Amino acid sequence: MPEDTCLFCKIVSGKVPSDKVFINDRVYAFRDVNPVAPVHVLVVPKEHIENADVITLSDAELLTDMFIAVQEIARKEGINETGYRLVFNVGNDALNSVPHLHLHVVGGRSMGWPPG
Ligand code: AMP
Repeated sequence: MPEDTCLFCKIVSGKVPSDKVFINDRVYAFRDVNPVAPVHVLVVPKEHIENADVITLSDAELLTDMFIAVQEIARKEGINETGYRLVFNVGNDALNSVPHLHLHVVGGRSMGWPPG
Protein backbone atom coordinates (compact mmCIF):
# COMPACT_ATOMS: atom_id res chain seq x y z
CA MET A 1 0.00 0.00 0.00
CA PRO A 2 1.53 3.37 -0.95
CA GLU A 3 0.17 4.95 2.26
CA ASP A 4 2.57 2.74 4.22
CA THR A 5 5.68 3.48 2.19
CA CYS A 6 5.19 6.76 0.31
CA LEU A 7 6.66 9.83 2.04
CA PHE A 8 4.06 12.25 0.67
CA CYS A 9 1.18 9.87 1.52
CA LYS A 10 2.53 9.90 5.08
CA ILE A 11 2.70 13.71 5.01
CA VAL A 12 -0.91 13.88 3.77
CA SER A 13 -2.07 11.56 6.56
CA GLY A 14 -0.05 13.46 9.19
CA LYS A 15 2.23 10.52 10.03
CA VAL A 16 5.15 12.67 8.91
CA PRO A 17 5.03 16.34 10.00
CA SER A 18 4.94 19.15 7.45
CA ASP A 19 4.48 22.91 7.31
CA LYS A 20 0.94 23.13 5.93
CA VAL A 21 0.09 25.93 3.50
CA PHE A 22 -3.23 24.75 2.02
CA ILE A 23 -5.70 21.91 2.39
CA ASN A 24 -9.04 20.91 0.93
CA ASP A 25 -10.84 17.63 0.20
CA ARG A 26 -8.48 16.51 -2.53
CA VAL A 27 -5.31 18.59 -2.31
CA TYR A 28 -2.66 19.24 0.33
CA ALA A 29 0.20 21.76 0.09
CA PHE A 30 3.22 22.21 2.34
CA ARG A 31 6.56 24.01 2.36
CA ASP A 32 9.48 22.21 0.75
CA VAL A 33 11.98 21.22 3.44
CA ASN A 34 14.85 22.29 1.19
CA PRO A 35 13.58 25.51 -0.45
CA VAL A 36 15.24 26.84 -3.59
CA ALA A 37 13.55 30.26 -3.31
CA PRO A 38 11.84 32.39 -0.64
CA VAL A 39 8.56 30.66 -1.56
CA HIS A 40 8.77 26.94 -2.34
CA VAL A 41 5.57 25.01 -1.80
CA LEU A 42 4.70 21.46 -2.90
CA VAL A 43 1.10 20.88 -4.01
CA VAL A 44 0.09 17.22 -3.92
CA PRO A 45 -3.07 15.22 -4.54
CA LYS A 46 -4.16 13.43 -1.35
CA GLU A 47 -4.63 10.31 -3.46
CA HIS A 48 -1.45 8.50 -4.50
CA ILE A 49 -0.54 9.11 -8.14
CA GLU A 50 3.02 8.24 -9.06
CA ASN A 51 3.90 11.10 -11.39
CA ALA A 52 2.70 13.23 -14.30
CA ASP A 53 3.53 10.45 -16.76
CA VAL A 54 0.65 8.27 -15.53
CA ILE A 55 -2.06 10.94 -15.42
CA THR A 56 -5.21 10.10 -17.39
CA LEU A 57 -8.34 11.97 -18.42
CA SER A 58 -10.03 10.72 -15.27
CA ASP A 59 -7.60 12.91 -13.28
CA ALA A 60 -8.70 16.10 -15.07
CA GLU A 61 -10.76 17.46 -12.20
CA LEU A 62 -8.06 16.69 -9.66
CA LEU A 63 -5.48 18.54 -11.75
CA THR A 64 -7.77 21.54 -11.96
CA ASP A 65 -8.11 21.40 -8.17
CA MET A 66 -4.31 21.50 -7.91
CA PHE A 67 -4.07 24.58 -10.12
CA ILE A 68 -6.87 26.35 -8.24
CA ALA A 69 -4.92 25.60 -5.04
CA VAL A 70 -1.80 27.10 -6.66
CA GLN A 71 -3.68 30.33 -7.39
CA GLU A 72 -4.83 30.63 -3.78
CA ILE A 73 -1.34 29.83 -2.46
CA ALA A 74 0.28 32.37 -4.80
CA ARG A 75 -2.07 35.09 -3.55
CA LYS A 76 -1.55 34.12 0.09
CA GLU A 77 2.25 34.04 -0.34
CA GLY A 78 2.23 37.39 -2.20
CA ILE A 79 3.79 36.11 -5.44
CA ASN A 80 0.80 36.20 -7.78
CA GLU A 81 1.82 39.58 -9.20
CA THR A 82 5.61 39.15 -9.22
CA GLY A 83 5.33 35.70 -10.78
CA TYR A 84 6.25 32.14 -9.99
CA ARG A 85 7.39 28.91 -11.59
CA LEU A 86 5.42 25.64 -11.60
CA VAL A 87 7.41 22.42 -12.02
CA PHE A 88 6.49 18.74 -12.24
CA ASN A 89 9.66 16.64 -12.20
CA VAL A 90 9.28 13.26 -13.91
CA GLY A 91 11.89 10.52 -13.76
CA ASN A 92 15.64 10.38 -13.29
CA ASP A 93 16.76 13.04 -15.77
CA ALA A 94 14.56 15.57 -13.97
CA LEU A 95 15.89 14.37 -10.57
CA ASN A 96 12.42 13.33 -9.45
CA SER A 97 13.10 12.01 -5.95
CA VAL A 98 9.65 11.38 -4.45
CA PRO A 99 7.32 9.12 -6.48
CA HIS A 100 4.07 10.87 -5.53
CA LEU A 101 2.80 13.53 -7.93
CA HIS A 102 3.74 17.01 -6.71
CA LEU A 103 3.74 20.44 -8.24
CA HIS A 104 6.56 22.73 -7.12
CA VAL A 105 5.43 26.35 -6.69
CA VAL A 106 8.58 28.46 -6.64
CA GLY A 107 8.72 32.24 -6.34
CA GLY A 108 9.82 35.28 -4.41
CA ARG A 109 12.93 35.89 -6.52
CA SER A 110 13.84 36.30 -10.17
CA MET A 111 14.75 32.98 -11.82
CA GLY A 112 16.86 32.11 -14.84
CA TRP A 113 15.89 30.10 -17.88
CA PRO A 114 16.62 27.43 -18.98
CA PRO A 115 16.97 25.55 -15.69
CA GLY A 116 20.38 23.94 -15.13
P1 AMP B 1 11.30 16.11 -6.63
O1 AMP B 1 12.79 16.15 -6.66
O2 AMP B 1 10.63 16.84 -7.75
O3 AMP B 1 10.79 14.69 -6.48
O4 AMP B 1 10.87 16.92 -5.35
C1 AMP B 1 10.82 16.38 -4.08
C2 AMP B 1 10.92 17.53 -3.13
O5 AMP B 1 10.48 17.08 -1.86
C3 AMP B 1 12.32 18.08 -2.94
O6 AMP B 1 12.36 19.46 -3.34
C4 AMP B 1 12.59 17.89 -1.45
O7 AMP B 1 13.29 18.97 -0.89
C5 AMP B 1 11.19 17.79 -0.89
N1 AMP B 1 11.06 17.03 0.34
C6 AMP B 1 11.60 15.83 0.63
N2 AMP B 1 11.23 15.42 1.85
C7 AMP B 1 10.42 16.41 2.35
C8 AMP B 1 9.70 16.58 3.58
N3 AMP B 1 9.72 15.66 4.56
N4 AMP B 1 8.99 17.72 3.74
C9 AMP B 1 8.95 18.66 2.78
N5 AMP B 1 9.58 18.53 1.59
C10 AMP B 1 10.31 17.43 1.38
